[in-house]
Amino acid sequence: MNESAQTERKSPPSGHCLCSGVSYEVHGPIRQVWNCHCWRCRRWTGHFMAGTGCKRSDLHLVSDATLAWHHPADDPNVAYGFCRECGGSVFWKVMEGPPDQTDHIAICAGTLDLPTGLHTERALFTGDAADYHWLDPSVEAWDREESRPAAGSETAQPAPESPPAGHCLCGAVSYAVDGEMLDVWNCHCWRCRRWTGHYLAAARSLRSDVRFVSGGTLVWHHPADAPNVAYGSCRDCGSSLFWKVSEGSQDEVENIFIAAGTLDAPTGLHTEGSVFTDDAADYHNRDPSIAALSRE
Ligand SMILES: [Zn+2]
Ligand SMILES: [Zn+2]
Ligand SMILES: [Zn+2]
Repeated sequence: MNESAQTERKSPPSGHCLCSGVSYEVHGPIRQVWNCHCWRCRRWTGHFMAGTGCKRSDLHLVSDATLAWHHPADDPNVAYGFCRECGGSVFWKVMEGPPDQTDHIAICAGTLDLPTGLHTERALFTGDAADYHWLDPSVEAWDREESRPAAGSETAQPAPESPPAGHCLCGAVSYAVDGEMLDVWNCHCWRCRRWTGHYLAAARSLRSDVRFVSGGTLVWHHPADAPNVAYGSCRDCGSSLFWKVSEGSQDEVENIFIAAGTLDAPTGLHTEGSVFTDDAADYHNRDPSIAALSRE
């Protein structure tokens, strides 16, 4: 199924997570897309958050049967809204503060039905962006004070961790990779879009090389219409972490794809290519210098 084959912008704008347990409509103005590269959004989406947004009173939840909220222990005033069933990243909001913050809710743009008719307007916390990612020069970087790497910023580390390691937003799932990790590929297919809330940027390694330091909250979602693939998320915070195939060729079942934003910075990786670019969201500008493979 290629969702981008539709031509008319949905009215009202609507969207859902990978499994459709969370679905919504926006009955009012919807904001252009802002990319947030802060370390929390990086860990949670597995890449970075591309967020549109609306007034909270304009957001109509068609289904919130599986909606859960995660409040980071060190910043309980913000809430990450995700699907408990599929791990899809869907919403972000502030609990208490001035009305311009508490009246608003951010929506992960990759969960919107296509075409969105939106464009990417602004990039936040670019100083904390992952090293494997190309920052689009046509998107205005909002260089706020907190947008630059500071002491304690994850990007302040001088060299890649050895062995590479990573964890989800809440830290309950953490892992190390005792072996080779191949460079990052972007997957723009509709499933990865609905799951990460944007698109999947993943590094590949052998499953046998991934060592879990802790992993009790890692849960796997098998889409009803594609039960042979598995999306691994943290049950507590909703972070998108891993993708794998259950049965197939030896090559397929030996590999695992690691959402690169969950890796500790710097990763030392670079982005090698993109797949399913025909299904990429219309609000997103792809890096023109990386190879694009459009598979069926
Ligand atoms: Zn879901
Ligand atoms: Zn953020
Ligand atoms: Zn977690």
